Amino acid sequence: MGKIINGKEIAKDIKEEIKEYILKRKEKGFRSPKIVSILVGNDGGSIYYINNQEKVAISLGCNFEKLLLNEEISEEDLIKEIELLNDNKDVDGIILQLPLPKSFNEKKIINIISPKKDIDCLTYINQGKLYCGEKTFIPCTPNSIINILERSNIELEGKNVVVIGRSNIVGKPVSQLLLNKNSTVTICHSKTRNLKEICKSADIIVVAIGKPKFLNEEYVNSNSIIIDVGTSAVNGKITGDADFDKISDIVKMITPVPGGVGALTTTLLIKNTCEALENNEN
Ligand code: NAP
Repeated sequence: MGKIINGKEIAKDIKEEIKEYILKRKEKGFRSPKIVSILVGNDGGSIYYINNQEKVAISLGCNFEKLLLNEEISEEDLIKEIELLNDNKDVDGIILQLPLPKSFNEKKIINIISPKKDIDCLTYINQGKLYCGEKTFIPCTPNSIINILERSNIELEGKNVVVIGRSNIVGKPVSQLLLNKNSTVTICHSKTRNLKEICKSADIIVVAIGKPKFLNEEYVNSNSIIIDVGTSAVNGKITGDADFDKISDIVKMITPVPGGVGALTTTLLIKNTCEALENNEN
């Protein structure tokens, strides 16, 4: 069987680093970082995420506040709430749970967040910096992929990496980050021809398409390293884009779902908040 990469173990290491950072600050009499997570309405998935963010943040010594707003709030008032958080010196990171209810202009609202507090790199300014190779917050899912690869000692320089999926939240930013690491990146999508051949010639395949068990034995070989980003619900079970049961015996390394990419994302959000705190103080 190929090596199964344990995302939870990697997250544990990063959590220890964050805990130590916050503890050292406290010992020197400095305050802890603080996140405010905004939820408009009562979407079930978002409530789950926000509760999980709170649990992880508090366990690491990070201050956390939920700002729960009624779906009826006007766009103007929502903007005012975000501006208040932008101006609040005790708040380092702002998370806006997406999607917003349909009545809101989501792009406009996202870009009200101060880029200095935009810890998931949603604003145009931070995304622009990311694509120009300038320092900014690395969005959590792409950051999770890079952390998994690097902390598993997988060399990226000069490697052929195929990214399947070109969404703004996963495929495009992770392709850019891999390019910054000197990988040779091929971005594939639903109109790509000869996908099986392209994948077979890759050293690393990042699959982020939302098609459960799509990546099967016809796409991989014994040298393939598979990073599975997919999280689709199938019969009440979270299922990845790779057919784990069929290919984990064939490939060199693979991330499981759950317990792979998704296991790091909230922790990396807190790590970005620590960075925001450093930036705010300097
Ligand atoms: P998305 O916005 O729906 O984009 C899907 C992408 O996959 C599109 O670029 C699409 O191509 C491509 N695609 C669809 N079918 C394909 C096929 N048969 N062959 C090749 N490409 C195909 O998806 P997303 O938001 O990036 O999310 C992808 C998956 O990752 C979902 O399961 C999502 O739940 C999961 N996810 C997980 C995490 C995590 O933390 N673990 C975070 C974010 C997302 P076109 O552009 O041509 O349409």
